[in-house]
Amino acid sequence: MALEEYKRKRDFKKTPEPEGVVAPKRPERFFCVQKHLASHLHYDFRLEHNGVLLSWAVPKGPSLDSKTKRLAMHVEDHPFAYGEFEGVIPEGYGAGIVMLWDKGTWTPEVDDVEAALKKGDLKFTLNGYKLKGSWVLVKTGGRYPGARGGGDRSWLLIKHKDDWSGDVDIAAFAPRSVKSDGDFEDILAADNPAIWHTNRPAKGGDAGAAFEKIIARAAELKAARSPGAKDPNAARAARSKNPKEPARAKKTAAPNAAASKKKKAAARKK
Ligand code: MN
Repeated sequence: MALEEYKRKRDFKKTPEPEGVVAPKRPERFFCVQKHLASHLHYDFRLEHNGVLLSWAVPKGPSLDSKTKRLAMHVEDHPFAYGEFEGVIPEGYGAGIVMLWDKGTWTPEVDDVEAALKKGDLKFTLNGYKLKGSWVLVKTGGRYPGARGGGDRSWLLIKHKDDWSGDVDIAAFAPRSVKSDGDFEDILAADNPAIWHTNRPAKGGDAGAAFEKIIARAAELKAARSPGAKDPNAARAARSKNPKEPARAKKTAAPNAAASKKKKAAARKK
């Protein structure tokens, strides 16, 4: 039932994305958020359910502020194996760079997930590296003004007020991969940047400008790595020498208590 649309949109001879199968049910439910620099930057929010990943594209990413509602466009189910994917999609549907921005487990706060989805009101708890606590996805019924086209696919992702909510801008505070600790340019540099010279997915606008910067940065990182060097710190060292881009901010002062708790939790998990 679940993966037809996903498969129809992709040519698996050309994309590194997994073709995937419907996975067996497990007691643990996986969730992830993939930061996706395609024609527009967005965050793909995915919840494991019945062997696939229910998926919403969140243009602005999740907000920890309970007063901030984030538009979440319901998109096709993705295969379970997609949840660990990070890399470059060179061409076709979703062409761009995918970063595994957060992952962990989720627990429904309702008995019947199917009924909650049908009703358009799914409450759940997340236990990721960056996102934690109670959240809700609410179907808007096309009433949300920012939803262009496909109004029946528009939902809102909202953080409930709890110990894990707060005014820290989590996308800015923790922008990197939980899989590789890299940013987009690191993921691109780890892949093959040559493809970008002939086949760039975004042609203009903000995403196009972002691509240009990332491609240039990826080329620098690649050049900074001596041939055959296996030192994973080489790229980071190269970055810290660039005066325009300071080394990753030292995490000394926590923006707030919630963020501090999150870091401790992340440290515990690592
Ligand atoms: Mn996407």
